[in-house]
Amino acid sequence: MPIEWSDRPGQQRARPPSPKLLRVRAAGRLGARLLGPAQRVLTHYVAEPLGDGKLVGRTYPCLGPTCRHCPAPETLREKAYAPAVWSSAGTPALVVLELTEAALDAIDDKTGGDPAAWRGLLVELYRASRAPNARVLVRFHERPPDYQLPEPFDVRPTLYHLWRYDPAADAAPAEPPKTLPIEPDKRKQA
Ligand SMILES: [Zn+2]
Repeated sequence: MPIEWSDRPGQQRARPPSPKLLRVRAAGRLGARLLGPAQRVLTHYVAEPLGDGKLVGRTYPCLGPTCRHCPAPETLREKAYAPAVWSSAGTPALVVLELTEAALDAIDDKTGGDPAAWRGLLVELYRASRAPNARVLVRFHERPPDYQLPEPFDVRPTLYHLWRYDPAADAAPAEPPKTLPIEPDKRKQA
């Protein structure tokens, strides 16, 4: 077999992975430093059966008119996702930090509604009870960072990956374009 030399960039080359999503587990707690304000989004918290008959709660974005979860408005939750640094294991890593409504309210109170005041905040998140969907509460710490704060980043690619959502597919027009191409024989008459 001949070698197919090529200097084209690899088309299947994987993109660098997006930062991982970090959320507080039931009865867990975690500390992270915020890099910038959160992206807010309306979601549904839906119980889905696992293979063994148990139910597990999952979060899906609300897709508006095409949303399949909207007939159940009691499942609606406002969530927010903030670019952050997590340094639990010693090495700081970029993460997307999930915030619930209660946590968001606490941070809004602390920052006085100023998006710029999010940057550098060291937060400790924990659940109000052992339930997996219990309110997330926030404690603030005043310790300054001992490393240079990375720039904030777009959290949406991480969420697209998590939700298996393709923004390009959604951007495609829902109806065919109104101006149809003129057929060749009609073009002659025009
Ligand atoms: Zn919905």
